[in-house]
Amino acid sequence: MNIDKTKPVMVTGANGYVASWLVKRLLDEGFAVHAAVRSPENDKKVGHLKEAAQNASGSLKFFKADLLTEGAYKEAMQDCSVVFHTASPFITDVKDPQKELIEPAVNGTVNILNTACEVASVKRIIVTSSCAAIYTDAIDSVNAPGGQLTEEVWNTTASIDYQPYSYSKTLAEKKAWEIAESQDQWDLICINPCLVLGPALNPRNATSETINILKMLGGGDMKMGAPKLGMGIVDVRDVATAHYLAAFTPNAKGRYITAAKETDFLEMGLVLADKYGDKYPLPKKALPKWLLMIVGPFANKLFTRKFIKNNVNVPWKADNSKIKNDLGIEFRSMKETMEDSFQSLIDADIL
Ligand code: NAP
Repeated sequence: MNIDKTKPVMVTGANGYVASWLVKRLLDEGFAVHAAVRSPENDKKVGHLKEAAQNASGSLKFFKADLLTEGAYKEAMQDCSVVFHTASPFITDVKDPQKELIEPAVNGTVNILNTACEVASVKRIIVTSSCAAIYTDAIDSVNAPGGQLTEEVWNTTASIDYQPYSYSKTLAEKKAWEIAESQDQWDLICINPCLVLGPALNPRNATSETINILKMLGGGDMKMGAPKLGMGIVDVRDVATAHYLAAFTPNAKGRYITAAKETDFLEMGLVLADKYGDKYPLPKKALPKWLLMIVGPFANKLFTRKFIKNNVNVPWKADNSKIKNDLGIEFRSMKETMEDSFQSLIDADIL
């Protein structure tokens, strides 16, 4: 489908870590961006977007909306050709996963996609899903057909009690496809990033779990060694590009694994060692799995024995050829991503 590029576009959760780079890209390309956020009045949350708009050819308008209020996004959606739905809680320290993760992720997706059915200008919806809707633990990639994750694979191992964030993303994406198939006004494309790293546009006020992971790496939490936890990483600027290309490439279709590199925490630390190893307590060796099995559950409640068994020293493998072939994306190197991430936290006095 060809998308009318002269119409405005809407971004939900526009102030988020991932969405901020997307909004910047859209503004730089000259779009009128309808930014739906929870706190448009809070400059700590949206000041960096206003700044991005000042230096761009596009225009920016804020709308106040919450995922859990039915119809809340209708005003922001008026006249838009594309809806980018990025808003969803990305937090791991939760007390009530149903209320804190699943309800906003699933009900929010239903709310936005149902509203789109009432706004005739909407022709394409890009949902920020996640590789978490494809797998829970690295062992799932080993067990996948052909020993790697593809867009055909769905997460069947997360639950409300085990990795509820992954469960929330799986349920939300399934709901999105169900609604997409019930209508023919707009088409749906899902972007499924693995762990997103890279500089934040508002590092001091960013809430994404990504920032906590970078702080753990540089702040000394892993100075005795890092768990070799199999995972994929991708640069936040490339994730923004993936959303942009998915919206405006006529033949874009289905889900897109958005992953640049198969890696682990130790390699992430080692890649920073050249430039930052003298000044920062980066990990230099691997923590043995047997040791993690003993101390992990006491050190961090996410490090259960099941999690360690299924992830530590287990390689993570995913096929990223679909996004490269269909959208022509070229991913940044891990070194560039890691160094730019780290430098942005140093420049913001966070490390
Ligand atoms: P983030 O910076 O925390 O962004 C999350 C956004 O969702 C924020 O704008 C937040 O608004 C909004 N939000 C949360 N609950 C809401 C609610 N009830 N109503 C309205 N808005 C709500 O995290 P992120 O890393 O950029 O994540 C953005 C998307 O990417 C999410 O869908 C996440 O699942 C997905 N993703 C992230 C990664 C990663 O590694 N970072 C990987 C794969 C997929 P407030 O600022 O007001 O809280």
